[in-house]
Amino acid sequence: MTVAVTLEGVSCVFGSGAQMVRAVDHVDLTIEGGEFFTLLGPSGSGKTTCLRMIGGFTLPTSGRILIGGQDVSHLPPYARPVNTVFQDYALFPHMNIRDNVAYGLMVQGVEKAQRHARAEQMLDLVRLSGVGIRRPGQLSGGQRQRVALARALINQPQVLLLDEPLGALDLKLREQMQTELKALQRQLGITFLFITHDQHEALSMSDRIGVFNNGRLEQVGAPQAIYNRPATRFVAEFVGAANVFDGARAREIAGVDSVMLRPERIRLGAAPEARISGAVIDAQYFGSFSRVRVDWSGGVVAVDLNPELHPLLPNTGDTVHLHWQADAVHALAGPRAVLP
Ligand code: ADP
Ligand code: MG
Repeated sequence: MTVAVTLEGVSCVFGSGAQMVRAVDHVDLTIEGGEFFTLLGPSGSGKTTCLRMIGGFTLPTSGRILIGGQDVSHLPPYARPVNTVFQDYALFPHMNIRDNVAYGLMVQGVEKAQRHARAEQMLDLVRLSGVGIRRPGQLSGGQRQRVALARALINQPQVLLLDEPLGALDLKLREQMQTELKALQRQLGITFLFITHDQHEALSMSDRIGVFNNGRLEQVGAPQAIYNRPATRFVAEFVGAANVFDGARAREIAGVDSVMLRPERIRLGAAPEARISGAVIDAQYFGSFSRVRVDWSGGVVAVDLNPELHPLLPNTGDTVHLHWQADAVHALAGPRAVLP
């Protein structure tokens, strides 16, 4: 495996004095060639700034950026072997689709017949054959997103940067595009650096995920590792639903100071072997699961039930007994060590 992107101690500080924002804070990261790597984090956590520094649109305050082993820290965007797909597509409204897609080749001076042929190939690739002479305004949101993708891929970048590219699409279309985008990445073998704040998107598409919080990478790992063995409390709570117990309650459950227990790992059962018992606060049906919230020694425990096994939900005030396998409990680093 070759290394596609390396960040070495990269920071980005905006403004100064009271206005100062440390958007990206000493990030070290290695992305392998051919990897689908996702930066996941809440709004304002530094994802876009990180991506803009790799693309060359923002300069790091400190640190080095390498692409394919070459230090590009001081190269302008056009001299870097990367391309970017932005959330708002940024298509040229007055140009037809084919010319939008061929734009990168036109800038390079590729002659017309050849760039039109390449543009048609790219449109085939994103399943948009035959729309070349339309304008962006005559396409749906999902189609415009595919055009933006074709335009970014035509220069055969080593790395494709995608900043929340599916954020503007409705849920059904977004899910469809997630599948297509993943398949396209596999087919082309290009390294994708994908940004999202959506945990489902990150879990379902990525080879590895880097979780961002306050400009820092809190954890880098495969989706299963991020979900099942979060390194910090922030990761546990941001990626999926989590019961996090601290102090006495954590010690009672697992003998450590802070633990995580996913709601879907908890079962309702008979009293004798129950690990804990409590009164139902409320129960809600969500279709594929039902969530019951239980009061346990002054805190809330969320339990997700399979509606097929539990067609009748418990009533508020009912006492329920909670069970789980020992390996459902995951110890977290101490809360003070990881809270901002
Ligand atoms: P994300 O993409 O995760 O939502 P950003 O990278 O856009 O986060 O922003 C990270 C932080 O940096 C935020 O606090 C944001 O307000 C700040 N920021 C981003 N760009 C600028 C800028 N050009 N000038 C000043 N502050 C900025
Ligand atoms: Mg952003």
